Amino acid sequence: MTADGIVGEFLALKGETDADLLAMQCGDFYEFFAEDAEFVGDELDLKVSEKSSHGSTYPMAGVPVDDLTPYLKALVERGYRVAVADQYETADGHAREITRVVTPGTLLETTDPTAQFLATVVSVDGRYGLALADVTTGEFLVTTTDSATEMGSELHRFDPVEVLPGPTVRDDDDLLARIRERTDAPVTGYDDAAFAPGRAKRRLQDQFGDGVLDSVGLDDRAGVAAAGAVVAYVAETGVGVLDALTRLGAYDTGDHLDLDATTQRNLELTETMHGEREGSLLATVDHTVTSAGRRRLREWLIRPRRDRDVIDRRLDSVAALTDAALARDRVREVLGDAYDLERLAARATGGSADASDLLAVRDTLDTLPALAEAVADSRLADSPLPDIVDRPDREAAASLRAELDAALAEDPPGTVTEGGLFRRGYDDELDDLIDRYEEVTEWLEGLADREKARTGITHLQVDRNKTDGYYVQVGNSETDAVPDEYREIKTLKNSRRYTTDELEEREREVLRLEESRGDLEYDLFCDLRDRVAVHAELLQDVGRTLATVDALASLATHAASEDWTRPAVVEPGPLVVEAGRHPVVERTTDFVPNDLELDDDRGFLLVTGPNMSGKSTYMRQAALIVLLAQAGSFVPARSATVGVVDGIYTRVGALDELAGGRSTFMVEMQELSNILHSATEESLVVLDEVGRGTATYDGISIAWAATEYIHNEVGCKCLFATHYHELTTLADHLPRVENVHVAVAGDDGTDEDITFLRTVEDGPTDRSYGVHVADLAGVPEPVVDRSRDVLNRLREDRAIEARGAATDGSETTQAVFDLGSGGFRDDGDDANGDDANGDDRDPATESVLAELRETNVAETSPVDLLTRVREWQERLDGTEAEE
Ligand code: ADP
Repeated sequence: MTADGIVGEFLALKGETDADLLAMQCGDFYEFFAEDAEFVGDELDLKVSEKSSHGSTYPMAGVPVDDLTPYLKALVERGYRVAVADQYETADGHAREITRVVTPGTLLETTDPTAQFLATVVSVDGRYGLALADVTTGEFLVTTTDSATEMGSELHRFDPVEVLPGPTVRDDDDLLARIRERTDAPVTGYDDAAFAPGRAKRRLQDQFGDGVLDSVGLDDRAGVAAAGAVVAYVAETGVGVLDALTRLGAYDTGDHLDLDATTQRNLELTETMHGEREGSLLATVDHTVTSAGRRRLREWLIRPRRDRDVIDRRLDSVAALTDAALARDRVREVLGDAYDLERLAARATGGSADASDLLAVRDTLDTLPALAEAVADSRLADSPLPDIVDRPDREAAASLRAELDAALAEDPPGTVTEGGLFRRGYDDELDDLIDRYEEVTEWLEGLADREKARTGITHLQVDRNKTDGYYVQVGNSETDAVPDEYREIKTLKNSRRYTTDELEEREREVLRLEESRGDLEYDLFCDLRDRVAVHAELLQDVGRTLATVDALASLATHAASEDWTRPAVVEPGPLVVEAGRHPVVERTTDFVPNDLELDDDRGFLLVTGPNMSGKSTYMRQAALIVLLAQAGSFVPARSATVGVVDGIYTRVGALDELAGGRSTFMVEMQELSNILHSATEESLVVLDEVGRGTATYDGISIAWAATEYIHNEVGCKCLFATHYHELTTLADHLPRVENVHVAVAGDDGTDEDITFLRTVEDGPTDRSYGVHVADLAGVPEPVVDRSRDVLNRLREDRAIEARGAATDGSETTQAVFDLGSGGFRDDGDDANGDDANGDDRDPATESVLAELRETNVAETSPVDLLTRVREWQERLDGTEAEE
């Protein structure tokens, strides 16, 4: 075919797909042409050459067929969708067709061990359907909800790698924006028809059987559309892993602790606020020994349960493993030999598993009886662990294991087409081929010695290479002695190469046998792989069991090494923690433990104390203890009673979030609004400063009203840290509100030399210690001193003089902050005047002030504002200059 022809074919195939790039097989290479070649040349540093034909030249870049995977991965992980066209033989030559489209959510070859969810989001009549499929493990989950917020939280929890919005979602800019806010996964447009309820339903029934919708209680159109579209997409992209999707896991969002996306971030569950894994809760408690175990542990932490039975069962296992150190070590040692069975199952169904993958399946199935033995150990025998290990079909697992063991050679080659994969005795025909092959190779191996003896030539060897095939090589000094039947095929500098009729005959036989053996072994291997693929569900069961035990053992390992305690989980009930610690901070600090009590009588704690004293740590610690308990983990405390909550909601003021151009204060208020709407009586709410992002009086007012609302209307457990001590008086008026504060030593009222004790005690703090923090932060000495001075005067007589502000020659003027009215009042002669010191000001200052008051910031452009401010400054400078 001419280059033009090939490029023409490439462009035609490209037209058939909406993928971003096309890799087309041309013999031993996958080639990219034209624009695609230039693109991959840049992205992947591939060499771009020119293919010319019929007077036109085309850029061309290629990779060897066996090397495509890493390039595909690199492209897909950058968010591109790549179509792959394979070449196949036909009666009159060959043809090519697109066999699959590799997308971020269907990249079976990924080496990233974390879950790779492909998500669909559907909205039908105000209901949202969310389906999540991980093609690399076969995990498939579906849920529905009425709340767009909840849909967003779920999406954020699962952290998908590709999102397919349904037709109504795609047209809804707000919803799309919300999705993009909750995940940075690429959003792929997909065929509307796949989301149509009838078609989606049929897809699901084809995949999972007719009864599937009833059995999982999925009668919701949004859920069906979402799930059906995922199946259609996986089928269409051609990764061949449909068979790995063995179960439709419909779940109710109500089974899990509600954690909105903000809270997931604030609590630093899987990564810190700065986006690092290290320092997250997961990284801290993760002692898993397998990647499947790590995925399981992550899932538990981001989806803690609400159901006490499930929680208690996990805790029973963790408790047993915590106590039985030796048995635990043995369990972890056994698990250390396990490979990622769920991934291997998907590779088997996808047809990409090679012989070493199947050996990995065999070895991993081997760990199941070993694990059963380890948990039969007396100290674990009474826990739920033996039941967990018994869940998969152990007999089926053992027979599959035996089948693989009997089939595969111990050290198979990396490719599945060359032979050498199977043990002797596995297949008679293969054994026969191997016998014959060995016979011939033996003959060939002995040939050199036989010929040396026969001819008396000393420099004679028999070898094989690609161009000459088998040959006899004789050194130049002895070529005269070669027998007549030797035919020369090549002359080298110091030797000559010969062949004979018999050698040629044997060579043909070797080639024939090699080819037959390769073909036969490949067929046998595909059969074997298919038989493994048929057991995908079994492999997933075993894989999930191993992952579960790994996650439990990990929690136990952490509990034992960090001296955590089993929480008493009650439903419903108080949150009482004795000597609690922050699970992450305690690892790096000499942590001072704290008590906490939240119950019917004191359900709302106002936490006050100096900045940096530990308020925020104390509150997060409370949230994390509840979360850990509901995930089934021990908790960092001397003792803890945890009443099950339905959700944890947090808002944390510290981080400078300028998300999507919204102001920090706007974000703060949206978060508050979401909490006030979502939290129920059964929730835990943690507010770390509310109203900080606006003027003091606005801030106090909002915080005040929010406290009343949470106390009176929501009635949930709440921890609220605030630097407004004005709020502490609320405890006098609202029965469930109590004050606690972080204690400080050396507090002689001067703000000097104080030490944070980090212990939390009942009662309000008396002041805010801001000056101390200013000092710590290195604010210049004169400013700190002056602040102390001002503060002391304020304390003494609640009055402050404004130094240098007086214009009438007297030293100072006084303004008083009236705690009663929450405003400033004039402390001078004109005690009733509503405009403090107004009488004393010169007209120029007065007019500047008046203009300043009247300026509507929202409606004035920044440039205008700048100009005005400059002008005011000039006018004020003029006033000073006159003095
Ligand atoms: P705040 O919210 O009051 O400003 P933080 O909770 O951010 O204070 O804590 C300030 C610092 O004190 C953090 O570095 C934290 O690690 C440390 N810290 C907080 N609580 C404790 C404690 N109980 N024991 C030891 N260090 C603590």
